[in-house]
Amino acid sequence: MNHVGIGYDVHQLVAGRKLILGGVEIAHPKGLDGHSDADVLMHAICDAVLGALGEADIGHFFPNTDPRWKNQPSKTFLEEAARQVKFRSGRIINIDATLIAQQPKIAPHLKLMKEHIAAALGLSIARVGVKATTNELLGFIGREEGIAAMAVASVDLPEPSETPI
Ligand SMILES: [Zn+2]
Repeated sequence: MNHVGIGYDVHQLVAGRKLILGGVEIAHPKGLDGHSDADVLMHAICDAVLGALGEADIGHFFPNTDPRWKNQPSKTFLEEAARQVKFRSGRIINIDATLIAQQPKIAPHLKLMKEHIAAALGLSIARVGVKATTNELLGFIGREEGIAAMAVASVDLPEPSETPI
């Protein structure tokens, strides 16, 4: 059975933090604030995969009150999402994601981001789509106060043995 999941995340841009998007550290005066490395793109993808499984979101698996996840690379979260898929004898078909950032320019980093995401999920790079757009200077993203990401995941799961009525 083909399942789909959706994920959305946003983090605030602040001074004194590294900017890490899709596992790629990008030179920028500000970085995303958060408990982990605040990789908004990987977080949205993680939620999309977990959503396709009907699971709770990333905060349930990795609470931001748990010191173990402080400044953790977010690939840890994607690896766990992939493990959850395997545990259910499923297979990720594809991922598609969009980063919404006014600055910096994302395009030069897209290929490397795809490679990092594909590696964390154990997928071929051809199954990972990452796009980027600005917010046309509108709202908090346009004012460079934060960066958002959205993602969908398609996951093939075994047919359930019983169909609930
Ligand atoms: Zn997040």
